[in-house]
Amino acid sequence: MIKRTNVTEIDAVTNPIGIHALVWTAEWNTRTALEAVARSKDAGFDLIELPLLNPDAIEIAEVRRSLERHKLDVRCSLGLRFDADISSSNRAIVVRGKELLKKALETTYDLGSTYLTGVTYSALGKYNQPPTVEGQMHMQESLAELADKAADLGVGIGMEVVNRYESNLINTASKALDILDLLGRPNLTVHLDTYHMHIEEVDFTQPILACGNRLGYVHIGESHRGYLGSGSIPFTQLFRALATIDYDGPITFESFSATSTAPELAGTLAVWRELWNDPYDLAVHARDYISSSLKQAHRANRLAEQFIQMKQSQPLS
Ligand code: MN
Repeated sequence: MIKRTNVTEIDAVTNPIGIHALVWTAEWNTRTALEAVARSKDAGFDLIELPLLNPDAIEIAEVRRSLERHKLDVRCSLGLRFDADISSSNRAIVVRGKELLKKALETTYDLGSTYLTGVTYSALGKYNQPPTVEGQMHMQESLAELADKAADLGVGIGMEVVNRYESNLINTASKALDILDLLGRPNLTVHLDTYHMHIEEVDFTQPILACGNRLGYVHIGESHRGYLGSGSIPFTQLFRALATIDYDGPITFESFSATSTAPELAGTLAVWRELWNDPYDLAVHARDYISSSLKQAHRANRLAEQFIQMKQSQPLS
């Protein structure tokens, strides 16, 4: 049967639109976290993503109260470190990675969030060699264990697919889906990011259709990580694909500019250029861009469906 979407549904596109907290600040502590929460709400977002690279950096209870007061939804993310990496061949490094993930999971739960994502499966950074067989076994065991702990807390775990310079393990949606199949944990989902997809995927449709309901989270970033629409990502194609699979999960804006990023993170992500200096202007622009692109995509899909129906009811003689 052909799916029909009416205009009322299009106007009520309900994806929570989020923003990464580090758009607002380079320093990460309780004070800047509280500011980021207030500014995200002020800029019209439904959701904030909080970095848990160092889960002890913020007063959890205080940040949680602020999130509740501002009625802002929250997701958490991190990337592992080379000295705390569950995909390492070295058991001691794997153990440190598992401890970091466990701590991040507890913090996610304590913040009132139901999703922890990011490079949860390897270090975030440039590897100089492919993953080892032993390292991949460690990653699978650790991730299965984490997913089970998370399920007990009602938390989902995302695996963010990143480009080759930021992990050697999961660079495409198809690789992430293989690992999901292998692990068989329903609370593990794929997290796609347009910035990374642009480097690794064949296009912006196929990976999203392949994920279907196993797509748990989406990062929207431009090819150079600056203003949306000012780079080379075909966002129309992306939003059409999201509308096609009826993705109703969060869509979170991520952007980095040299002087607004902490030196260590800027080094890991290779953020060298000053692409913006007014985060509020950038954020409001992104909020409007995502919201209008989503509506346009749903409208375009609806027109395409109506066109197909028309052709079917008026077959060529
Ligand atoms: Mn991302």
